[in-house]
Amino acid sequence: MSFKYLCISALLISCTGLLCSCSSPLSSSVTESGSDAQNLDVFAMNTYMSMKAYGDNAQKALDDSRELIMRLESELSVTDEGSCIYELNKNGKGTVTDSAAVLINKAVEIGDRTGGALDISLYPVLKEWGFTTEDYHIPDDKILADLLSDVDYKSISISGNEVTLPENVQIDLGALAKGYTSDSIMEQMSADGVDSAIVSLGGNVQAIGGKPDGSAWKVSVRDPFAPDTDMCIVEIKDKAVITSGNYERFFTGDDGKNYWHIIDPADGYPADNGLVSTTIIGDSGLECDALSTAFFVAGKDKAVDYWRSDRSFDMILVSDDRKIYYTEGIADSFKNISSMEAEVLRLD
Ligand code: AMP
Ligand code: MG
Repeated sequence: MSFKYLCISALLISCTGLLCSCSSPLSSSVTESGSDAQNLDVFAMNTYMSMKAYGDNAQKALDDSRELIMRLESELSVTDEGSCIYELNKNGKGTVTDSAAVLINKAVEIGDRTGGALDISLYPVLKEWGFTTEDYHIPDDKILADLLSDVDYKSISISGNEVTLPENVQIDLGALAKGYTSDSIMEQMSADGVDSAIVSLGGNVQAIGGKPDGSAWKVSVRDPFAPDTDMCIVEIKDKAVITSGNYERFFTGDDGKNYWHIIDPADGYPADNGLVSTTIIGDSGLECDALSTAFFVAGKDKAVDYWRSDRSFDMILVSDDRKIYYTEGIADSFKNISSMEAEVLRLD
């Protein structure tokens, strides 16, 4: 099996889906460009995950990573009875795991830094839309307004591992859990002695080092207007490439309009502030995941202001009028393979 690009695309997802559906174990071994690569595909966190590692310790690193993914899923899932998040939402207070505490603190921090665009207390609103159960419908205005009146991540109280939520407040870490998971996989694989690996968790990509020959990984980003095709390619080493898009999970309402899973805390409706896809490229999967969701909500101008004041990451934004904007840090490796116009964003 040849992986020219590790795609943020349906191609990879359907590819791993095929592997997962066969009766053989989840791992397989391939030889690529003369190097031994070990692959492992897992379905977890409601998504297909595909991992590839090189070197003598690759198989152990992948096995450890699978265990890690399963542990994090059982801790962080909002729907699994017994997860600390499920218990917290049920009881309004609880002791969460160290991982959950890191995620809650990061979500609050990014909520503050994005003017509330990221708000993990939207969970009751997401449930009302049916995004958690796939029983989709457009909520009644009054019900939505009632639910929205309790949404406020600032009302979450966290001290160490102890968390308290006011009445009617429930949280969901879906906006940043996969980024945290890919960070954790990178740490696990490095501890196992791997220095060349790449993972895609439902299209969110993160890599250790470059390819075994020292060259950069080529990662493609999906075209939000044609999600079966790729829009652009970037080259990375030791980075995460994390995308939020309106095409990832949506339904078509009785009114013929599409409604997607990223909600604007301002009105409780799918965020529609001019962007259809946001990709963040940086060192921390957790930070990239949180920002990709937050920028999708905040829109292009706020995303660019944030980037100019922070400078620790790069990004690729796609606007609803079919334009690509990418930041100057990736200008040398960015390759536009779509028919859309692409404009580079400069720091000054
Ligand atoms: P992502 O695919 O990383 O952009 O995350 C999308 C997921 O985050 C959704 O499926 C919801 O579980 C959750 N979510 C949606 N809107 C928001 C928001 N404004 N703030 C925080 N979490 C959100
Ligand atoms: Mg995200």
